[in-house]
Amino acid sequence: MPPRSPFERLGRLVDNFSPGFSAQVEELRRQMRAGLDQAGSGQADPQADPATDPATALAQLRNETIGDCRRCQLAPTRTQVVFGVGNPRAALVFVGEAPGADEDAQGIPFVGRAGQLLTKIIEAMGLRRDDIYIANIIKCRPPGNRNPQPDEIASCEPFLIAQLDIIRPKVICALGTFAAQTLLKTKEPISRLRGRWQAYQGIPLMPTYHPAYLLRNPNEKETVWKDVQLILTQLGLPVPPRAKTKKV
Ligand code: SF4
Repeated sequence: MPPRSPFERLGRLVDNFSPGFSAQVEELRRQMRAGLDQAGSGQADPQADPATDPATALAQLRNETIGDCRRCQLAPTRTQVVFGVGNPRAALVFVGEAPGADEDAQGIPFVGRAGQLLTKIIEAMGLRRDDIYIANIIKCRPPGNRNPQPDEIASCEPFLIAQLDIIRPKVICALGTFAAQTLLKTKEPISRLRGRWQAYQGIPLMPTYHPAYLLRNPNEKETVWKDVQLILTQLGLPVPPRAKTKKV
């Protein structure tokens, strides 16, 4: 039987991860259902009930499900888990690879030089970081910024899936080769993936170049601007005047 609610999907998506994880997700789901039942009885506003509020659901995922996660070998070398940041009801979610040194130190994704460029791209789209949501596939920094390994992705990706199932964005933007290839389970280069609509967990996904790549190859900013215009159109948002892009 197909899942009847986002909350059931949340559980279905991660049920096979591990017994402990499944139990925690089940508890999250139970609390959400309790909130829905209470709301249905007219005793509470579902928007105000923490059990049905995406912000609260994300906080529970972060604090209770992930917690001081030790599910993979990245735990001993990280400073902290870098969960995600932004609007819990965002229509657009940017997904990158993994935290770097700045992100590991601050606990916030995309705050280094590449993150500052991402912020400029978001602003060039006529949006603010508070309007969208930003997360990585891997929540802990790989030592020396090496690429995450398959077993680390397998351990951590269910958290991203759970985040997306709570937020339910209209569009995902995958930033860079690693994010795009991992989410789409492909080896195609980002140069061929970018600019073409794909799907992840049933959500339209647009791959584009990583801001760190743009720092090394500023001429490709024009290419990324083409991709984000497609995203804006998909979201039903106006494309800001071209003059704004010159600030990126
Ligand atoms: S990378 Fe993910 S799975 Fe590994 S320890 Fe960090 S939060 Fe847990």
